[in-house]
Amino acid sequence: RHVPEDITLLLDAMQPLKLRGYQPWPTFCQAVGALMTNPLLPLDGKGVMVALRPVPGIRAEQALTLCRPVRMGDIVTVGDGRLVLFLSFCRINDLDTALNHIFPLPIGDIFSNRKVWFEDSQIAAEIVQIRDMNPEKWGNPLKGPGDISAVVNAQHDSHAWRRVPQPITLLDASDGGTA
Ligand code: C2E
Ligand code: C2E
Repeated sequence: RHVPEDITLLLDAMQPLKLRGYQPWPTFCQAVGALMTNPLLPLDGKGVMVALRPVPGIRAEQALTLCRPVRMGDIVTVGDGRLVLFLSFCRINDLDTALNHIFPLPIGDIFSNRKVWFEDSQIAAEIVQIRDMNPEKWGNPLKGPGDISAVVNAQHDSHAWRRVPQPITLLDASDGGTA
């Protein structure tokens, strides 16, 4: 009888729900693939996968520095010039709500193109498509100086993005006071 081993396998397949944030491409594909075949999770209710291509002038790796998932089970990877997110248990109608929690700027300001998958079979088929992508196309997260948080004037407080207001002086006496 192999029942205990089967249960262990099923429970192992829940492990991705304990991941959060950036994952290397193969880890991401393996994690989402495991969730899709897990019968303990609701059919077609496991979450939403979305691929986001940045607007011209922003590299995918830079956009990644703005991507701060807050919920456990929300994971992201980068490759082939785009971000791919999996948002656990998110419903398709709530996608914009979730993305607004995760990014400090309106999604349309950062990304010009999005593709969404939300049924198990769609997500599983896409994972099969992308998991064998040439490793040369895998993205690498930037470290330190690549962070563009300063550019958008927002900081993450481990819960959510917060804009950081900066005082500006409209009239400077040393200019003579006239504009
Ligand atoms: P978690 O699911 O890992 O979420 C971590 C934090 O992400 C939450 O901290 C919250 O700031 C944010 N977050 C996650 N999902 C949502 C959402 O759908 N809407 C909003 N507005 N924010 C969200 P928080 O609130 O301190 O919760 C800590 C943990 O408590 C959560 O970790 C979760 O495990 C649990 N929790 C809190 N409220 C709920 C709930 O309504 N339903 C469930 N299933 N779990 C909850
Ligand atoms: P849901 O998971 O059914 O959560 C419904 C509402 O319960 C949320 O509305 C929020 O008010 C509350 N809630 C759920 N989890 C948490 C939590 O951990 N902390 C706190 N403080 N509140 C929580 P909200 O925020 O309008 O989100 C609506 C739906 O959008 C959520 O439905 C979920 O499907 C999706 N969503 C929102 N934020 C996230 C996220 O960060 N990650 C994912 N995966 N889905 C999210």
